Amino acid sequence: MLSTKTIENIKKTIAKYPGKKFASMDALMIAQQECGYLTEEALRQIADMLDMTPVQLNEVAAFYTMYNKKPVGKYHIQVCTNVSCSLLGAEHIVEFLSKKIGIKKGETTSDVFTRSRITVTDDGFNMFEPVLLKNINTPDSHRIDVYIKNGGYQALPNALKMQTDALIQMVKDSGLRGRGGAGFSTGLKWSFITKEPTILKYLCCNADEGEPGTFKDRAIIEKDPHPLIEGMAIACYAIGAQTAYIYIRGEFDFGARRLEQAISEACEKGYLGKNILGSNFNCDIYVHKGAGAYICGEETALLESIEGKRGQPRIKPPFPAQVGLFAKPTVINNVETLACIPHIVNRGPKWFASIGPEKSPGPKIFGVSGHVKKPGLYELPMGTTAREVIYTHAGGIRDDRKLKAFIPGGVSAPMLTEKDLDTPMDFDSMATKGTMLGSAGVIVMDDTTCIVKIAMRTMGFFRHESCGKCTPCREGTDWTYKVLHRIEHSQGKEGDVELLESLCGNIFGRTFCPLADGAVMALRGALKNFRDEFEYHVKNKRCMV
Ligand code: SF4
Repeated sequence: MLSTKTIENIKKTIAKYPGKKFASMDALMIAQQECGYLTEEALRQIADMLDMTPVQLNEVAAFYTMYNKKPVGKYHIQVCTNVSCSLLGAEHIVEFLSKKIGIKKGETTSDVFTRSRITVTDDGFNMFEPVLLKNINTPDSHRIDVYIKNGGYQALPNALKMQTDALIQMVKDSGLRGRGGAGFSTGLKWSFITKEPTILKYLCCNADEGEPGTFKDRAIIEKDPHPLIEGMAIACYAIGAQTAYIYIRGEFDFGARRLEQAISEACEKGYLGKNILGSNFNCDIYVHKGAGAYICGEETALLESIEGKRGQPRIKPPFPAQVGLFAKPTVINNVETLACIPHIVNRGPKWFASIGPEKSPGPKIFGVSGHVKKPGLYELPMGTTAREVIYTHAGGIRDDRKLKAFIPGGVSAPMLTEKDLDTPMDFDSMATKGTMLGSAGVIVMDDTTCIVKIAMRTMGFFRHESCGKCTPCREGTDWTYKVLHRIEHSQGKEGDVELLESLCGNIFGRTFCPLADGAVMALRGALKNFRDEFEYHVKNKRCMV
């Protein structure tokens, strides 16, 4: 039986949503915190409270990896073994922990706890004045008083004095393009929302940040969340929304608590809530935690997940600007995108547009990981070359080895090689090289790297994260992974490289959402640049590095 306190907490969370059933994800997590896992009794009780059936609730719980369906230990150690971490020996950490604790992966024993940390680096900024990461190393940078002392919450009162059309035009003029990966014009996106005042509208902030190799939004959320909150309040005013949700990945529990604290501080100071700064504008922001599903970074899957359902993408059209969250017009923007807004209002669109290339302007946070001397976050003008990002700021290749390849924007982006180092890192220049700026999560690989292993790990990730809705993605990523696995493990067969190419052709462009296309593009990038390495593996049953 759930305790009275847990039941009260579930009742409180229901108030965040326009209907009881939308609170299913929060309710499941609250119950799990008490019981350790989702017991049948807990599921029945929650289903009753939300006017759902236990089967409907189970369907949601089964989709996400962070809901425990059976008893687990008190503490849960998770070690990332995706590409960036694998390059620096994550598998050895798993092996070490396994030996030290005396259990295998997936098993349970008693009290052990670990928490991951991120490295945030602010050196090497050259002549460029950072704005997005400027304050993150200030003591208590997450607190509202520090933000206000550093000039925060000056943009909101000015924005509230503007006509909403003028505000949207200002963002359009700045040239800001979405920092989540797609690079769509933010001002244009805002302008698609109906001006009809009687229609409810929503803003959603995409803080899912699930793309492997990406860790920029996490730094903003944990270290300096108020520019995001201020940017969201301004965005809500511009599009006529009074309610916004921040969809944050379930793994970012600390970040979610930081956001809750920032929202509560902003409410206390009158920057959120009713009649903000005497303007008659009302705005509430709620945090919605995911529960372990990469696909929820796709905007329509994210909407489904906020609605408490399985995070499976919706068919488009209709686009979220017409039929979005709770079937209302909705704008979805990334964390970094929204954190740029107060700076655009304060300094003007010309200032923003003057940084970097004309068609992709503004400051940009690059997250560099892998085989570099100084991995971390670097805020630089959009369009800084890959060479400058990797060599000037991230210190070059560890042990002064040779660069073999780099992925410019998270694992979905096709890899590039040394010959591409002088390419500016912006949306359009990356596209000319057949890749994407994506999230600007730059993963660097030196000449000791086995590209077949990287391709296998990448495809293993997409195979795991496929939501299963469409056959080419569900079956294709699995099949491709199995072929790569046998090549990597000395069991490749003649014709396997051609088979991989054929599988790519049968997946690409035939699926519901971009997840499968991302998987194919990553593999095609590896095959295009390192086909000889795949062939060597098949022929010689071993790696060439
Ligand atoms: Fe789901 Fe993959 Fe289809 Fe996207 S492409 S809807 S992730 S099965």
